[in-house]
Amino acid sequence: MKELALVLQAETGAQTEGTATIEHFSTPLRWVRATIFLVGGVGLAAALIVVPILHLITTWALPLAGLIACVSVLRTRARLADIQGRCPGCEASFSHNGGRAVFPMRIDCPNCRRPISIAPAGEEHGQG
Ligand SMILES: [Zn+2]
Repeated sequence: MKELALVLQAETGAQTEGTATIEHFSTPLRWVRATIFLVGGVGLAAALIVVPILHLITTWALPLAGLIACVSVLRTRARLADIQGRCPGCEASFSHNGGRAVFPMRIDCPNCRRPISIAPAGEEHGQG
C-alpha cells in the first residue's frame, strides 16, 4: 500500500486535490485468491449437499457466489482505500472507503450528492 495524490473533479470542471492509499495485487496473488474462491464455493456446496432443505439453495448459490468472487478478484488489479479530499462542488471535506482502482473513478459527494470524478494527480494512470 502506498499513498496516492488524486485530482477530484466535479461536472462543472472545478477541481480539488485529495489523497488515498492504493494497493496493487500481483497477477499470481490474484490467481491464487480467485482459485480459492472458486474451489471454496464448489467445495462448500458439495459439503452441504447432505443437509436437507439447505441443499436446495447452497448447491447452486455457493458455486455461483464463488464464480462471481473469482471474476471480481481477477479484475481487481489495484484497489483505492481511504479516499480523503474536499468536494469540488460544495467544498465539504469527505472520506470514502474507495473501491477498484479504475480511473476515472466516480463517486458521489456524501454532502451534496453531486458526482465526483477521481483520477491520479501524477502521471500514474492505473488500469483495472
Ligand atoms: Zn459536495
